[in-house]
Amino acid sequence: MSVFQHDDFDGHEQVAFFKDDDTGLRAIIAVHNTNLGPALGGVRMWPYASDQEALRDVLRLSRGMTYKSALAGLAFGGGKSVIIGDPRKDKSEALMRAMGRSVEKLAGRYIAAEDSGTSVEDIRQMGTQTEHVVGIANKCTRNGEARSGDPSPVTARGVFVGLEAAVRHRLGRGDLDGTKVAVQGVGNVGQRLVEYLRDAGARCWVTDIHAERVAQVADETGATPVGAEDVFGLDVDVFAPCALGAVLNSETIPTLRARIVAGAANNQLECRAHGELLMREGILYAPDYVINAGGVIDVAFERTGYDLEKVVTKVNGIAVSLSEIFERSDAEQRPTSEVADDLARERFMIDMAA
Ligand code: NAD
Repeated sequence: MSVFQHDDFDGHEQVAFFKDDDTGLRAIIAVHNTNLGPALGGVRMWPYASDQEALRDVLRLSRGMTYKSALAGLAFGGGKSVIIGDPRKDKSEALMRAMGRSVEKLAGRYIAAEDSGTSVEDIRQMGTQTEHVVGIANKCTRNGEARSGDPSPVTARGVFVGLEAAVRHRLGRGDLDGTKVAVQGVGNVGQRLVEYLRDAGARCWVTDIHAERVAQVADETGATPVGAEDVFGLDVDVFAPCALGAVLNSETIPTLRARIVAGAANNQLECRAHGELLMREGILYAPDYVINAGGVIDVAFERTGYDLEKVVTKVNGIAVSLSEIFERSDAEQRPTSEVADDLARERFMIDMAA
């Protein structure tokens, strides 16, 4: 199948293919839209079964980044890159430097950050070849400690304020005291989210495929461990997916007892129709790319000069955007996922010829 006829080709501005025989690099960089600014997005390394699978992923992910940055109010467009290979076996410093040279060829139209299969150190290696990388600077936290470029803590903060907004809208509660939340996946983001929730007086149930993570988080936060399959049917107020994509589908949605879904995972809806199904089931869905925008906000500010106060203000804006989406969804009786897409398009589909 050609790129132009591909189901996921959405008027992408540029799709570039890179191959470097010396290092084994095979990569695709997709720039979806730069109307609002240079395309910002992570570098994903994954053992794709075929080039087609890699192409599909990069086209979809880059498009999603345009919507995410637009709704987060950032002066950035959407892009993404994929490296075809197993990060545990095929990654080397030379390969990451070759990837850096590939990014350099786009001359700043694409700015790279870490993603699944790449680390802050990998992006640092790329940064020896190009200045068009983010997520590697040491930043200052509120209490003055330095932290690495990892955006997860800021993503978790954004999910927390978004979850508060959803609880306010659907349950009419001014705070989270006593609110019951099931968190699926207690990795970098999920664990921080549980800490924020605990501090706000919420009660948490946690699950993960790694039993030791569950035990550690339960021990440190007082959350209750549950089995991976049991997390959907729990009698809680909020289901917070913080593990993997496509968890909201025809099988899981009817089993949910939570009235709200608000979590960090990307691409939570298995397909577009599941946004409609959630609405019909009376479940308020906080669209994933709106509520998990804290990370992109964090790395975006590295480009413009990192300012913690401005980052916090922007991250708090996630709650404002979500409230607008919830209200418009109620008024128009349309799924929140579709309302979010409309709002994002209103922001980035500006007439460049005008
Ligand atoms: P992570 O890999 O640190 O954590 C994910 C956790 O989910 C892991 O502990 C893993 O064991 C667990 N998990 C995997 N499959 C599971 C399953 N079936 N049931 C229960 N647990 C399962 O990743 P992260 O950085 O915490 O990100 C979490 C999600 O949020 C991902 O979908 C990611 O794409 C998305 N996201 C992350 C950021 C960020 O800043 N890190 C930003 C935006 C979106």
